[in-house]
Amino acid sequence: MALEMQVVPCLRDNYAYLLHEPQTGRTAVVDVPDTAPLHEALEKTGWRLSDILITHHHEDHIGGVMRLREDTGAAIWGARADSHRLPPLDHALAEGDGVALGGESGVVLDVSGHTLGHIAYHFPQSGLAFTADSLMVCGCGRLFEGSAAQMWDSLCKLMALPDETLICSGHDYSLGNTAFAKSVEPENPALDARIAQMAQDRVAGRPMAVATLALEKATNPFLRAALPAMKAAHGMEDASNAEIFAHLRALKDRF
Ligand code: ZN
Ligand code: FE
Repeated sequence: MALEMQVVPCLRDNYAYLLHEPQTGRTAVVDVPDTAPLHEALEKTGWRLSDILITHHHEDHIGGVMRLREDTGAAIWGARADSHRLPPLDHALAEGDGVALGGESGVVLDVSGHTLGHIAYHFPQSGLAFTADSLMVCGCGRLFEGSAAQMWDSLCKLMALPDETLICSGHDYSLGNTAFAKSVEPENPALDARIAQMAQDRVAGRPMAVATLALEKATNPFLRAALPAMKAAHGMEDASNAEIFAHLRALKDRF
């Protein structure tokens, strides 16, 4: 049975995700920017929190972890590589490790780049991937700690997931990200359609931190870096994939 999911907006533009395994009642949250919206969502759903899954060490993702743990007794999962700067972990994870939530099992991917030790959680049976500040809606996280080559490698791992996978990211940066995407690829009909759809979603107040991998591949400039047309448009026909990615990331930093 697939996981049920609730998207929980937190702080200014962060998103946390509640995951509920209906057979056993196990309920996990991915990242804890803040506790109040999560308590509210848990109360509404009647779900009892059992697990806290951390993606990376930034305060806007872990700020509420200790309080939520005190309130619920939930077990904390996070990257072993980051254990020195995360709340105390009950389960220290590395790439390839499993996260069992009742009948559903998640797999850990190392998606370093935004930070070193940033991990993503992929739940293949439910077709969900929690990517936080690695792959984001129409964009990717800034390179604070890792290199462009590392981030490119991380994005390639995510691109290898099934196309129908729902990518659930850590923020809604859709406005800036689509504006940048349009500047890089002015004539991409899929991107234009997405921008029009997002305008409607924004009016309707629908969260924009979730999209299929297929849609990201069709519109996200960072996933399109290796396309010959992208390289040609930037006069980088002979560049490696990591080099054109680095170029696009640098352009976005100045955008
Ligand atoms: Zn971050
Ligand atoms: Fe963040």
